[in-house]
Amino acid sequence: MTIPFNKPHMSGKELYYIADAHFHNILAGDGPYTKKCHQWLETHTGSAKVLLTHSCTAALEMSSLLFNIQPGDEIIMPSYTFVSTANAFVLRGGVPVFVDIREDTLNIDEQLIEQAITPRTKVIVPIHYAGVSCEMDTILSIAVRHNLKIVEDAAQGVMSTYKGRSLGSIGHLGAYSFHETKNVISGEGGCLLINDPSLTHQAEIIREKGTNRSQFFRGHVDKYTWQDVGSSFLPGELISAFLWAQLEEAEQITKHRLDLWDEYHQLLEPLENQGLLRRPIIPDGCLHNAHMYYVLLSNEFSRDKVLQKMKDEGIGAIFHYIPLHSAPAGKKFGRVSGEMKNTNSCAERVIRLPLWIGLSQTQQQKVVTTLENAIKNKS
Ligand SMILES: *Cc1c(COP(=O)(O)O)cnc(C)c1O
Repeated sequence: MTIPFNKPHMSGKELYYIADAHFHNILAGDGPYTKKCHQWLETHTGSAKVLLTHSCTAALEMSSLLFNIQPGDEIIMPSYTFVSTANAFVLRGGVPVFVDIREDTLNIDEQLIEQAITPRTKVIVPIHYAGVSCEMDTILSIAVRHNLKIVEDAAQGVMSTYKGRSLGSIGHLGAYSFHETKNVISGEGGCLLINDPSLTHQAEIIREKGTNRSQFFRGHVDKYTWQDVGSSFLPGELISAFLWAQLEEAEQITKHRLDLWDEYHQLLEPLENQGLLRRPIIPDGCLHNAHMYYVLLSNEFSRDKVLQKMKDEGIGAIFHYIPLHSAPAGKKFGRVSGEMKNTNSCAERVIRLPLWIGLSQTQQQKVVTTLENAIKNKS
């Protein structure tokens, strides 16, 4: 029995909606399906304005343009994240300043942010790892005190909340991913959540090749022209049609994943009690979306050996980020603020377990037994 790390979940109506878009000959962006997705996301998150993009990376790049990042501007973020968090700002000449993470959530340590601030700091980018929120109240108050912008990298955070607020809707801007590996998917895809309404007009221009075409479509102007710097960040209707089938099922998808997550959490409790590993910790006030189930191996075990043994048994367990501060481009473009103690330690100990809709209890039991044996066999 081999158990892959991920299997994309289809709601069942994807091809039906794609056929409908095809039938109506509406294939370019911002057609009826894109509008449905925008509306659903706005209603569901409480964000003032949501714009679909072709990826979360694209939404982060739009943020960088919206905040007019200039060469030398500094952007505070964790090192324990995906490359796009940093790349989106590096593209504009920004300098990522890496801050250590918390040991409990693997999210940016909000207590270390203030000491990383310099006169060049422009933006803080909290990443909600595994769909579990950063300590946003503290981060918001730091941003207010220092007049900084917040872009939430909520790529993994669709359907998660912090004190009742949807992730991605809390900072000035937020970004979701609908990549095949996330919870709600369209193959490649994403969106920008614009929570500060004063940014909406400019965001529409940036997304539509630097033109005011969105205003033109609404009948607000009688022709559209080149207004500012921009690019093409919008997905075509076929992608939006696919995404619509997923958003309709987003509640169900989340519920189903949470059941799987809870099952792992129960099965792994004895292993935690034996000191073999640590399970995820969800702080009070955070409702998560079961994007990921990970464990942190105790120090004395070799993660690589455990992973190899699991692989030999056909289990698709994998590690996660190589911290950006230790990667070639991270060294070239960014700098570190303070020590990277938790970042280095957690990155070396993390193991992500298979979690996808359709995974059976027997399979979950097998994953846990294999993990236990791999650890105990003196890895
Ligand atoms: C997946 C992910 C991204 C990138 O999303 P894309 O839609 O593939 O561009 C960015 N940041 C984080 C934290 C992610 O997990």
